[in-house]
Amino acid sequence: MQKEQELVHFVQASKGFGAFEKIKLIIFASGEKKACFVRMKISSENMDEKAHFEKHLKECGKKFIVSRPKTFEEIIRVTKNKAVWKPAGIWYGYDLFADTRTKNMFLKYRQLKHDNNHKTADKIGAKIYGYPACCMTQYSKEHDVNYIKKNYSYYQFYKKVHAVDKKLQFIFHIPCSVECNASRRMNEEHKRTVIKLARKFYCSYSAKYVFNVDVIVDSFSDIFDDNGKSIWEKKNGCDAAFLTAKKINGKYYLLSCLTKKQLEKWAVYAASIKTQYDTAQLNLGRKKKTLKNFHHQRWFYIP
Ligand SMILES: [Zn+2]
Repeated sequence: MQKEQELVHFVQASKGFGAFEKIKLIIFASGEKKACFVRMKISSENMDEKAHFEKHLKECGKKFIVSRPKTFEEIIRVTKNKAVWKPAGIWYGYDLFADTRTKNMFLKYRQLKHDNNHKTADKIGAKIYGYPACCMTQYSKEHDVNYIKKNYSYYQFYKKVHAVDKKLQFIFHIPCSVECNASRRMNEEHKRTVIKLARKFYCSYSAKYVFNVDVIVDSFSDIFDDNGKSIWEKKNGCDAAFLTAKKINGKYYLLSCLTKKQLEKWAVYAASIKTQYDTAQLNLGRKKKTLKNFHHQRWFYIP
């Protein structure tokens, strides 16, 4: 466990991984998961982290497949009519495996997905990533947009998404429901492991913060059918991404919030934001104004 603890120490302090990536890595290092996928961001602040990370992985006997570098952007300025993005660095995707056997299973899984054999691929995927069977079955059903259309109203669907984000922060799959026993158990086990192996990280991750800041309605969540039409003709709610008009801790954020009423694009609201566990709870105050011709000025398009 010595080498694994060293890997956890590195992960805790690294700048290249977000909080959720750190949790995945801590659980992977502990041996509770046999595989995971993480993104490592490299900027001028952490140039040496890629080599450092790979050294730790090798010392622990872990196997990995690393992607080619891709560029990522960040918002550097928000003005009355635009959000300006700028290239901020590159990121690498890492598929990590506990052993060669798991890596070989993953290669098979990837090939099946490539061949559009999703049913068999999903089964192998669930084994590699350790998903509960009930969640896997539900996930396969929800692959089909018609199933979602039949079983959820717009509001119900996004309410579930937010409830999962709020209640189950230590799992890496989409649970069949917020009440899923297997997922809740897994969430508790992972939480205990994170506290045990990375207490410092856990303390900052679980700390609560409150900010008051104006937010701009930026875009709306939706699901489209094969013809590009929304699967919900009538929407009984509004799940929107809000852009903070000012920086919080040195960064602009995009936060999502579900409301019962319909919102106008580019409307500006006073808001209070409570953050904990990498998720933000947004409470909208009064509407201040609506911006005109707001747009995102980007250098690259990142899908
Ligand atoms: Zn489940």
